[in-house]
Amino acid sequence: MFHPSFCPNPACAYHSLPTGKEPHRAVPIVRIGSYHTQVVGPVTRYRCKACGKTFSTRTFQLDYYTKRSLPYPTLHQALCSGQNLSSIARLLHCSPASIQNRIDRLSRNALLLHQHILRSHQLHEDLTADGYERFDLNHFFPNNINLTVGKVSQFIYGISHATLRHKGTPSPEQKNPPHPLQALPKPPRGALSTSFASLLQDLSTYWNPSSYPTLTLYTDKHPAYPAALRKVPFLQQALEKNQLSHRRTSSKLPRTLHNPLFPSNYIDRELTKDIAAYHRKSICFTRNVQNGLSRLLCYLLYHNYQKPYRIHWGALRLPPHALLAGIPSEKFKKKLDSVYEQRFFLSHEPLTPLWEALYFRRYKTPLKKKEEYLPKYACRGYTQGSLK
Ligand SMILES: [Zn+2]
Repeated sequence: MFHPSFCPNPACAYHSLPTGKEPHRAVPIVRIGSYHTQVVGPVTRYRCKACGKTFSTRTFQLDYYTKRSLPYPTLHQALCSGQNLSSIARLLHCSPASIQNRIDRLSRNALLLHQHILRSHQLHEDLTADGYERFDLNHFFPNNINLTVGKVSQFIYGISHATLRHKGTPSPEQKNPPHPLQALPKPPRGALSTSFASLLQDLSTYWNPSSYPTLTLYTDKHPAYPAALRKVPFLQQALEKNQLSHRRTSSKLPRTLHNPLFPSNYIDRELTKDIAAYHRKSICFTRNVQNGLSRLLCYLLYHNYQKPYRIHWGALRLPPHALLAGIPSEKFKKKLDSVYEQRFFLSHEPLTPLWEALYFRRYKTPLKKKEEYLPKYACRGYTQGSLK
């Protein structure tokens, strides 16, 4: 008999997750039949006696609604080892669209897991922050992917994205005749500072001056960073009270271990090496901003919670970056063990604005007029998929 730990209906009294402190409570469900599927065979349906909604065992699975099962661990490993969508599709004998669909699913789980950890975490290390300049769609739309990274642990705390204006002056050959894309409206000014400010605003989730009274934020000398700090009132107050210091280092210094920006430089190197879209001179560049960010979220899951901090001599494997950041494995092990199978519910995890923008696919792709697609079952407050 199937015993779910919660009812999937967000409006039901049994929807909240058991905390462990409360006595065990069984969700009152009754079996109401089954149906046959070509993908997993018979699937049993149940009705919750508390709210009257019906659901099946598939409602709780990451592969909810899919018509084919693909191996998530293989897909994830391939994605984080420099393979592009077409290459993974060839490996798994399916279409690149199916691969992107599974990456989107996994990225939602990765985001909810990471947000769950950040909400209960207290920062105990300094941070470095930097933006990695790539492009989306074509060279007319450069972007900045901003990341906050732990100075000691190299744990990735936050991600934000900004589409920038095209830099440089067109040459006489480019002006006559002008490229049609040059005539299109340009992204707004100050996008980088706004994006960076949203990244810094998220620090309030996991940094409390009472537990870590002297935080140092290391960045390069880009003028957008002090402007972004001024946009975040609680960080401005922390600067005035000397609880926060902002140290700026030239980005032209050698990228060695002794460079104060080493953690950011290290992540830049890892991303360039491990994600196909970030390889130099790659033809696998990002065509859709949100799809690119989904891949980055899957990489965050791998980097923070699965990848060893260092491997010495091919044998000594240090624990993952999360443990170095002071996050005990008990906090994420249970969720990590089920990240490829169970669907994490948005209604169980309140999101901060930074992660909400990523989850709800609010980052726009240049020249794309349609809203980004997000399945209705993945939205907060929506009656989950096939619930009737
Ligand atoms: Zn219910």
